[in-house]
Amino acid sequence: MPSSIPEDETGFDRVLRFTIPQRNARGRVVRLSPVLDLIQGAHAYPPAIRHLLAEALVVTALIGSLLKDGEGQLTMQAQTEDGVVDLLVCDYRGGELRGYVRHDAERLAALGTNPSLYALFGRGYLAITFDVATTGQRYQGIVPLEGDSLGAACEAYFAQSEQVPTLIRIATRSEGGHCVAGGLLLQHLAEGEEGRERLHVRLDHPEWEHVAALAGSIRHEELIDPDLSLEALVWRLFHDEAEVRVEAGRPLERGCRCSVEHYTSVIAQFPDTDRADMRNEAGLVVVDCAFCSRLFEIPA
Ligand SMILES: [Zn+2]
Repeated sequence: MPSSIPEDETGFDRVLRFTIPQRNARGRVVRLSPVLDLIQGAHAYPPAIRHLLAEALVVTALIGSLLKDGEGQLTMQAQTEDGVVDLLVCDYRGGELRGYVRHDAERLAALGTNPSLYALFGRGYLAITFDVATTGQRYQGIVPLEGDSLGAACEAYFAQSEQVPTLIRIATRSEGGHCVAGGLLLQHLAEGEEGRERLHVRLDHPEWEHVAALAGSIRHEELIDPDLSLEALVWRLFHDEAEVRVEAGRPLERGCRCSVEHYTSVIAQFPDTDRADMRNEAGLVVVDCAFCSRLFEIPA
């Protein structure tokens, strides 16, 4: 008998974790909206960049919530030499999300309304970094930014850097200035949740082929349908499985770690001559947080 999946109100800005024990599979589903408005509201991004950032924040929430609560930070960074977008950074720590995109507005305008990932970035790289606070260890993998979406690039990261078969689906929609985005991540851990050293990715494992086919049947509209709860979504995909365990993840919120103390310590690392150049007439260094656009006046 399938385990009962509790009824729950449709949750925006939260993650649902699930496992399918008999298939050695684990997954996450997430749906974001108010938190996107908050993060994107700090910048006047054009639609294509809002769309890209929404997609990036969904991926960041999906991958970040693979960390146990309070365990550390996940940072996703896409970078190019001379792309229209030359930098995209998002991170997740303990349910807090933040992110920003640096782009060339003039070149972006020339791309039309729905530019491809390649049109936005050109040749670039995607770096995924797990900083595990509890052990002080840092794991970083870097893969070429390829495929037709950030989700596809992240699938490549898991296959190449972690040898974990992974499926990621993302949907975004903008309505009257608001953005709704949802995503699903599914992974196969043949040796169980903790796993062990993996030398090859077996994408042809029958367990994985089975659950990947079920998860892959999800439709764009289902990911962002506010009338379909995350629990109901998981149930719809996997109701024929012997057992599906679900666990509510923590609520997601915008979190920025900028502070006077942070920028004071950053500025203190510059040589005296550089700090003199940075100071304004009042003797303050004005810093604009790239993530949340807050202005700081730092005595230097
Ligand atoms: Zn900030």
